[in-house]
Amino acid sequence: MRTITPFVIPFFIPHQGCPHHCIFCNQQSITGFTAADASLTGQDVQAGITTWLSRVGNPERQVQVAFYGGSFTGLDRRRQKELLGAVQPFIENGKVNCIRLSTRPDYINSEIVTFLLQYHVRIVEIGVQSLDPDVLLASHRGHTVDQVKKAFACLHRSELIIGAQLMIGLPEETSKGVLNGARILAAMQPDFIRIYPTLVIRGSGLARLYQLGLYHPLSMNRAVAICARIKPIFAKENIRVVRVGLQPSLSLEKEILAGPYHPAFGELVQARMLFNKARSLLFRVRQEKEMELTVASADQSVFRGKKNRNMNRLAGLGLLDKVTVRFDPNQTRQTLYLREKR
Ligand code: SF4
Repeated sequence: MRTITPFVIPFFIPHQGCPHHCIFCNQQSITGFTAADASLTGQDVQAGITTWLSRVGNPERQVQVAFYGGSFTGLDRRRQKELLGAVQPFIENGKVNCIRLSTRPDYINSEIVTFLLQYHVRIVEIGVQSLDPDVLLASHRGHTVDQVKKAFACLHRSELIIGAQLMIGLPEETSKGVLNGARILAAMQPDFIRIYPTLVIRGSGLARLYQLGLYHPLSMNRAVAICARIKPIFAKENIRVVRVGLQPSLSLEKEILAGPYHPAFGELVQARMLFNKARSLLFRVRQEKEMELTVASADQSVFRGKKNRNMNRLAGLGLLDKVTVRFDPNQTRQTLYLREKR
């Protein structure tokens, strides 16, 4: 059965509720929303919901109201009540199904969770970013790994759906540390995850380090390679990776000074994952007989890669010498099968 993507009505509260600026962050550039949005009121939320509701289309679509771009549970409690309270009439009349919001791990405890549930919040996204203490420190996150674990334990005791955001390429990160962090996070069992490569955004602390030559962003190739190793760690635990790479936007593109940005970054990662899978399958078989490698037709362009790069690399390694590649319309995406050719 096909799942219908929820219709998300987004409200941005850039940097609000945050105790300071994390080194990589400049929410105004990332979201395109300015300090003027700091004045988002309950009335604005109600007007915004009314406008957005006219665009839902399919009545079977679940409607979610989202508060993104800051640390919602760090806002003054009166303001939280005002914003969440503004959504309640729409929940009561069945036009909106639930609320989702993002916050920091150190701004979650059992009292906060109880408060959120009273206001029909159902999804909480935690900005984990890293599970390496040195990286957290160098990124000026202001929280510890232990606080992340406590936040998850607290959320797991409730019926809230838990999202997690993880970054790669932060200062002080090592290859071992990033893979280890992904394993620790997978063991904490979020319901879904977003993975973001670190970009140098104008006006951020990282931009200053970069300009002084004290921070070197990941190359595109390295960022893609790391994400292609991390994603399967979550897949193994049945954790959905709902996004890899920042949502492309013109306002974001104008503000990027450096770093592995590509509007179709997630697709580059998919291509690398398929390449890695194909390479290890083909390496393991003895190619004395004619073989056939089948790939889902829907993955054809991703499997081939830009300008047929993946196919050329496999051929360059001599791995396609006795192998015919066939694209199968009935095959599930992201699967590969190697069989003797009949
Ligand atoms: S990364 Fe999150 S907690 Fe840090 S400044 Fe940005 S919005 Fe606030």
